[in-house]
Parts: sequence; structure tokens; C-alpha cells
Amino acid sequence: MTRYAAPGTEGAIVTYASRYDHWIGGAYVPPVRGQYFENPSPVNGRPFTEIARGTAEDVELALDAAHSAAPAWGATPAGDRAGVLSRIADRMEAHLEELAVAESWENGKPVRETLAADIPLAIDHFRYFAGVLRAQEGSLSELDEDTVAYHFHEPLGVVGQIIPWNFPILMATWKLAPALAAGNAVVLKPAEQTPASIHFLMSLVADLLPPGVVNIVNGFGEEAGKPLASSPRVAKIAFTGETTTGRLIMRYASENLKPVTLELGGKSPNIFFDDVSTSDDDFLDKALEGFTMFALNQGEVCTCPSRALIQRGHYGTFLEAGIARTEKIVPGDPLDTETMIGAQASEAQLRKILSYLEIGRQEGAKVLTGGERVEHGGALAGGYYVQPTVFEGDNRMRVFQEEIFGPVVAVASFTDFDDAITTANDTLYGLGAGVWTRDANTAYRAGRAIKAGRVWTNCYHAYPAHAAFGGYKESGIGRENHKMMLEHYQQTKNLLVSYSAKKL
Ligand code: NAD
Repeated sequence: MTRYAAPGTEGAIVTYASRYDHWIGGAYVPPVRGQYFENPSPVNGRPFTEIARGTAEDVELALDAAHSAAPAWGATPAGDRAGVLSRIADRMEAHLEELAVAESWENGKPVRETLAADIPLAIDHFRYFAGVLRAQEGSLSELDEDTVAYHFHEPLGVVGQIIPWNFPILMATWKLAPALAAGNAVVLKPAEQTPASIHFLMSLVADLLPPGVVNIVNGFGEEAGKPLASSPRVAKIAFTGETTTGRLIMRYASENLKPVTLELGGKSPNIFFDDVSTSDDDFLDKALEGFTMFALNQGEVCTCPSRALIQRGHYGTFLEAGIARTEKIVPGDPLDTETMIGAQASEAQLRKILSYLEIGRQEGAKVLTGGERVEHGGALAGGYYVQPTVFEGDNRMRVFQEEIFGPVVAVASFTDFDDAITTANDTLYGLGAGVWTRDANTAYRAGRAIKAGRVWTNCYHAYPAHAAFGGYKESGIGRENHKMMLEHYQQTKNLLVSYSAKKL
């Protein structure tokens, strides 16, 4: 067991700066309007740094820098660009522990996860896109013996990226790695709740990148995100966040006919067929672990399995075991490696979750465990903590239909395969789903029938590079995490060449 010292205290391995300006053109640049806002840690609710409050003027400066850098970066040979990405990965690996602590402190998530998942996944993402870049090829179509169509991949130029607060470093990496690999310069706006960990990352890797290739403009959605998404000077906007914000982003980008990638919200079903409980003990144990995944990352995951659908034959026994397992989730200090559930990322998010706990009760959902805020004392006093909560109810209830983004699962039973699929698909969203069964036929048919971009079968919450991730329905447009993303950040250039003196 390790308990890391809080940044800024004795023995800490992470020191955050007392202020973060915008990172523009390879240097820190104060906000044009001179305004800053405070950034609290969710661990104790107290501000630990202040952040430049970006506006359209700052976005313009960042776009200037990105446009200056883009031509040379786009012309850099693929092997050299891949080398930069690999060196970023190596640098992150050398500082894995610091990055993990920095991320936990700013977001509230347990350090055991940032050490084992967030940061290693981010590192692997840079390595993956360094690799696929080297393997990318154009194509040639032989139209007739003298006429050839060549297809080249070209960078888009300057792209805008806007990310949320639930996995700050990983979300930045999902956006930056493919965009940089594809030869683009970037202006990225972090979430206002979690900009500091992105700057901590930049402080470690900035010297590896030419100035202006990555620019970070801090600030709020309307003030800094909107001018970025509305700018005619970006060739694409990549966004991760709420579905309601995604609609706005698409509207802004449409003014300039810019393409968008949207990774949005979810209300993912996690389906447990009867045979889970009659299967071997190891599989049952794995499935119960799968049930508790709703509390992973404090439930602040777009694919949070927030609806558990359990087949009627084993409903009571499986649910009872699931609740017992949920009650074993260790709450506490995010910087302690024993802790399994830490703090919600912001006070606003805490309030939203508490309001849904009330909504659930009012609409008649039964609280089977949890249901309350947790007030830790000592160093955690003032932090944003919630109990893992299991509601039992009906798929028409709001707690089954609306994204809570907290450690809350709504449970219902189903009769047979068709009932499970109908209920699973009875949602506006289509991001993730889980299917648990040893019957390969049932697993395959369910996986194909669920309208979601990612269906985990006998596993959950795995986010490896090389597996396409993205939403159906109102969960988004486009995919991430896969080599296909290179093309989402590139133009296709066709050269149609006649090698003959004859007329076509
Ligand atoms: P959010 O939409 O409130 O904010 C996301 C980002 O958009 C922030 O940087 C914010 O400042 C910015 N923003 C807000 N309003 C804006 C506007 N009008 N114009 C431009 N930018 C604006 O989302 P959030 O609360 O930060 O994140 C939680 C949401 O993200 C959840 O819905 C979750 O499901 C989703 N999410 C999706 C994925 C995925 O891959 N599909 C991954 C993680 C999170």
C-alpha cells in the first residue's frame, strides 16, 4: 500500500504551478483579457492553482501559432513524426507515477487506476499511432494502361479539439495522438474543471514538439470552446463531452462547413443472462466484477454500465451477490493505492448526482445500497464523495434513461433474449454495452442486435488502442482509438495522371 503526498505538501512527487497561462507557440502566454479562475482539487474542494480564462482573442493567438507550425509539421517525414510520438510515450513512461498522481489530484480518481489504466493507456496510444503512421500507405488505381489515379493522404492543417474532465490526460491523448500522427497542428481546449493535468503533461513533453504544433487554450465552453469550434481557421473540430454540447458544436462547425467528430454521452446496458450463475465460479466472479463496473472512475465514464439487466431466473441471487460486491468497493483518499472509489470530479457533478439520487427515490426506484453523499473527515474534508448506489426500478424511469455520470446503477429484470435486446435498445444513446453469457450463440446474437458502437462480451471497461470506439444514435459521430482515425484527420488527394500523348 502506498499513500502519495498531496501535490504541494511535504514529500509530494508532483508540484503544480500556482498559475497556468495558455500554452501557445511553445511558450506560456497570459490571457489577453488578464482574467483567471481558480481550480479546486475534488479531493478536498480547495483551489490548488489558477487558470487563464481564455476568450476568442486567445483562441486567435493559438490559431496563429498553429497555422505557422502546421506546414512544416505536415511536411515532416512520417518516420520522423512517428519518432516524436514514440519519444512522447517514452517520456510519459519515465514519469508515469507523477502523471498518475497529478491526474488523481485534479480529477479525484483513485491513483490505483491512473497508475494501472489511464496513464499506461495514454502511453500506448502514442505508441500505437506512431506505429500505424509508419504502416499507412496511399493507393493507386490503374484506370487504363496510360492513366493512373494516385491517392495520397494529406494533413488537414490546423484542427480544434475540445475535451471533457473525466479522463483528462487520456482524452487529450485520444485526440492528440492521431491528429499529430496525421501531420496536423492542434489547438486544444481542456475542460475548465481539469486543465492543470494537461499542462503538467505538456511540461514533461513540450520540448519534444516543434513550437506551435500543440497549443492549449484554457477556459470555459461558451468563452473559449465556442470561438474555437466556430472558427473558419480550423479544418476540423473533434469534441468529447455531453450530447447537448455536441449538438452545439455541430451547429457552430456547420457555419463554416467543417467536419466534426463527436464522442458523446451514454446510458449503457450491462446484460447478465441466466447461465452466468450456473457457470463455473471464476466466470461468475468475473461477471460480478463486471456488475460493479458502474462505480469505476466514480461512474464518470461515458460508457458507464449504468443499466444492469438481469435475467429473471437468477435475478435475486445474482443481484444479492452484486450488492455484496458493491459494498466491498473501498472508498477513501484517491492518493491511496488501496482506494477503489475516490471523489467526483467537481462540486457541480456532485450536486447533479445527489439530485438524481433524489429523482430516483421520487419516481419510485428502490435504493438497494448506497444513495448518500459521503463526508470524509481529515485531509478529505470538503471533498466530493458519493456512495456506490444500486437502484431497482423500471427502464422508463429517468434514472434508467438519463445520463447521471456518477456511481449509480439502475437494475431491472428481463424474461428472454428479445426482452433483453428491446430494453437494452430502449434509450437515446448507443455508446457501450456489456453481454455476459457462456453461450457463444447468445453472445454473438446479442452483440450484433444491440445498437451500440462497442459491445463488451464477458468483459467491460477495456479501452485498448486498436479497437474502434464511438457511438451509435445520440452517442456520437465517428470513431477513435483505431488506425481509421488517421484518415479522419487527413484529406484524400487524388492525382489523376495521363502518361500518354493521346486525348482521353
Ligand atoms: P461538456 O459537454 O459539459 O463539456 C465538454 C467540453 O466542452 C468542455 O471542455 C467544455 O468547456 C466544452 N464546452 C461546453 N460548452 C461548450 C460550448 N457551448 N461550446 C464549445 N465548447 C463547450 O461535458 P463534460 O461534462 O465535460 O463531460 C461529460 C460528458 O462527456 C458526458 O456526457 C460523457 O458521457 C461524455 N464523454 C464521452 C466520451 C466518449 O468517448 N463518447 C468520453 C468521455 C466523456
